[in-house]
Amino acid sequence: MEKIITRHFDLPQSHRLETYLKDGGYEALRRVLTGMTQAQVIEEIKKSNLRGLGGAGFPTGMKWSFIPAQNPKPKYLVVNGDEGEPGTFKDKQILEKDPHAVLEGMIITCYAIGAHKAYVYIRGEYTKSLEILQGALKEAYQAKYLGQGIMGTGFSLDMVIHPGAGAYICGEETALLESLEGKKGFPRLKPPFPAVVGLFGCPTVINNIETMACVAPIISKGAEWYAKLGSEKNGGNRLYSVSGHVEKPGVYELPLGISLREIIYNHAGGILNGRGLKAVIPGGISAPILKAQEIDVKMDFDSLKSAGTMAGSGGIMVMDETTDMVRAAMIAARFFAHESCGQCSPCREGSGWVYRILKRIYEGQGQPRDLKNLPGIVNNIGGNTICAFGDAVTMCVGSYVAKFREEFEAKIRNSIRDDAIRP
Ligand code: SF4
Repeated sequence: MEKIITRHFDLPQSHRLETYLKDGGYEALRRVLTGMTQAQVIEEIKKSNLRGLGGAGFPTGMKWSFIPAQNPKPKYLVVNGDEGEPGTFKDKQILEKDPHAVLEGMIITCYAIGAHKAYVYIRGEYTKSLEILQGALKEAYQAKYLGQGIMGTGFSLDMVIHPGAGAYICGEETALLESLEGKKGFPRLKPPFPAVVGLFGCPTVINNIETMACVAPIISKGAEWYAKLGSEKNGGNRLYSVSGHVEKPGVYELPLGISLREIIYNHAGGILNGRGLKAVIPGGISAPILKAQEIDVKMDFDSLKSAGTMAGSGGIMVMDETTDMVRAAMIAARFFAHESCGQCSPCREGSGWVYRILKRIYEGQGQPRDLKNLPGIVNNIGGNTICAFGDAVTMCVGSYVAKFREEFEAKIRNSIRDDAIRP
């Protein structure tokens, strides 16, 4: 299988400009700046079927085309490297092993959308990634791939790296913009969408680190080559972060559309200690859980949506047959309750309420009414909030209760029995 995103990962000093240049680095940028119009670059990315690899899976070329060319305000590119989704650890690898691939993708993107300033918002805890990216940025400025008159053309671009302060919600694109503007990371109501009113009220494209790393190879090898690597309307490869009860946890570059079974059993070495599989979260904690018998699904955005879950960030969390699903649901709910930004009552109050109910069931204090009330509470969060975080609470917790209801019922039955025999 042809590697794209990880093609330089095993080279010594892979993060250095010298290494990147030896493999044709910044040649895609040269081709764009000296021989392509903005519209041609956008068209090429559209044809490649590159999807947003941060989680939403929105077609990248289409997103770029939403930037209104006639708007006289400055345009911005903001790259999301917050990577706060539990179970996801792939952007970190890209930043540390091939930062120039991200920078080259960003410069090409800025040219395509007419931006002269770009920001990378990087997770605050990623100190090593930050240091390496800063080093790469310095190299790119020194080599005149950034700054005034890039490669002797009339195109100029400045770039700023901004570390976050550790809030999960700042990975939500509009909360990220608020944070970049120096405000509290509160998601904004949409519309207006960032393509029209984004950073500092100006048209803004927000893309993920991994998406950016795919741009230069598409320009170099062509949209058709890239589109053929994945499945229909889901071009190329992506990085899957595999964790939990597998023999070989790690980051795997594989095509979109590969089956979840193949990732777990052929690449991640199967279930730890030869145990049976119980459940898998296919795309970060927000994605609805799948049962063991559902893992023949194709791992692309559209197939996973049809299967009632989502591709999300590509964070695959594997749970073996010994996993207590009530505890797993409680831990997910605890995370949501902790990370809710608190702007919307259904999310702020509901996520804490759901966590308290699940905790009570897990600790043997549950009552039959808890299981009766839970779906109603959970379903009243999603769809009634400013951002998709509320939907994530609904979909994630709702899926555990719906698919493993017997485990919740058994815990409650045991609680009642314990009550009855208590003197
Ligand atoms: Fe904040 Fe939750 Fe509302 Fe999103 S849904 S804005 S996280 S309170």
